This record gives sequence, C-alpha cells and structure tokens, in this order.
Amino acid sequence: MKKQTALFSCLPGKHKNYLAICVFVSLISALCSSLLAQPASSSPVTLEKIKDNIYLIKGGAGANCYLIAGKKSHLLVDAKMNDHSFQEMLSQIKKITGQPVGLIILTHSDGDHVNGLAGLNEEMKILAHQKTYEEMLPLVERSPELKKILPTETYQKSKVLIFEGNKLELRNFGPAHTSGDTVIFVPDSRLAIVGDLMFFGRDPLIHKHKNGSFYGYVKTLQELLAYKPEIEIFLSGHAEPASRQQVAELIDYLRQKEKQVKELIDQGKTLEEIKSLLGEKTATGSTRRWPSLVEIIYQEIKGKN
Ligand SMILES: [Zn+2]
Repeated sequence: MKKQTALFSCLPGKHKNYLAICVFVSLISALCSSLLAQPASSSPVTLEKIKDNIYLIKGGAGANCYLIAGKKSHLLVDAKMNDHSFQEMLSQIKKITGQPVGLIILTHSDGDHVNGLAGLNEEMKILAHQKTYEEMLPLVERSPELKKILPTETYQKSKVLIFEGNKLELRNFGPAHTSGDTVIFVPDSRLAIVGDLMFFGRDPLIHKHKNGSFYGYVKTLQELLAYKPEIEIFLSGHAEPASRQQVAELIDYLRQKEKQVKELIDQGKTLEEIKSLLGEKTATGSTRRWPSLVEIIYQEIKGKN
C-alpha cells in the first residue's frame, strides 16, 4: 500500500486514496478474468516414462492417457476430456519426442477418455472396439459437429497390430466396465493398458447403461492375469501403475463383495437393507450418479435366478 500511495504522491490526499482503490480493483478484476479464461482443470499435462517406449500422460481434464512412442510416429491411447487438454497433450508429446501421433486407440466410450477428440485438427486413424463405436454414435447423432471423434476403424474380438516391428494385441473379453472395453497388451514389455478395468481405493464403475457387467468385469480381470506371456504392469485410466498382486487382491475384493451380497439375498434382505448392512448409503441419502457396486451385484444375482 505504501508503494501505491507513493506512486500518487503528486496528488492531493483524497484523490490518492481514490486512485489507489481504482488500481487495486482493476488489478483484481484483471486477475479474475485471466483465471476465468483458464479451462476448469488446469493441472498441466505431463509425460512420465513407465517402461521401454511407454509413457503415462497425466494432467489436464479427463483420464490418464498413454503413449507408445515410435521412431517415425506414435500411438496414443485415449484422448482426455476436452479439446484444450487434448491439444495440450499433443503439443507436450511433440515437444518431448519431436514426433507426431499417427494412431489413436480408444479403450472405451466414456467422455473423459474420448471427448478431447473434438480438438482434432487433422485426419487421424482412430481405432476402437465395435461396441465403443456404437456407444459413441448417439452423441454424434445429437451433435453432428462431433463426427470427428468417432473411431475410423473397429474390431470385434481381437486384433494384432505390428507397430514399428513390435507386436501389440488388442482384446475385448466381453462386457465389463462397458460393452466395448479394449485391453492393449504389449507382450515384449510385459505390460497392458486396460482403460477403466481397474480402480483401486474405490469400487469399480460398471456402466449398466452401456451394458457393463460385474461378472464380466471379474472375468476380464482373471483373463488379464491368465494372459501369456505374463503381464507385470497394468496401466489404467484413474490409478497408478498396478502389479499382478494388486489385480489379484482386486479380484478377491470383488468376489468377497459378491459373496456378502449373495448371503444377504439368501437371508431374504431387500436391496436397501443390503446396502445399509454393507455400509452403503440408501437411495434417499445417496448422491451417486451411477448405481453402486452392491446394486450392480444385486441386480446381476437377481437376474441370474
Ligand atoms: Zn470409463
């Protein structure tokens, strides 16, 4: 304040204070408008090498993405949640590696993994499972300007890609998180990129509105551990790189939850009672956007009987 008053020392006292307030107010409003101009999520996009030529891309808006770096071009897995973060990711990739992205693979259709493609300025090959394409279609039908986010190529069950001499295998093990989940196996690196097929420290999300399945989710996790050559690192959309041990523990946790729900159903408990007994909020107190894990398990057990 002393400094500001000194600036206006040539003015009479009353005007000094008035001018100092004006400058203060304009500084604050300039700061606010520059903050408002920033996108909602402003954590910077960063690349971190995980193993060999594979990088984890954190930050921006949306889920983790992954880069498989090549000598001539790169393969990108998933596309962040908005065009700003997508563009920031492309420019970070170019800055660090000097190469452009030549192919994008989508692990599934959720907005935090695909909506960034709205920022695509050039034609690019986008590969995904057929069901992912179908799940993205209604959005594009509603907003035709988003046509460019649609996969340009799809596969049904599995697909082998040779990327600059290295084998990659794309697999869909049936409905799990959604009906079109893709796992990208990189056998030479003993690594797999799994999208939202893994959550740690919170219950997995299973999208019933996209025909996701609890039993399919567990089966897919078992398939990941059964894959040969054995995978050692699992890279997902919302967690740190995971080990085989963590995946095995996740399967145990899900099996345990299924057992508890089944026992309570056998005792004749209602869904609301089961949720409350297992420590979940009841419908009235719930603020969840998606059905909880217990609700999904309950529906699937009931559906089976
Ligand atoms: Zn998802």
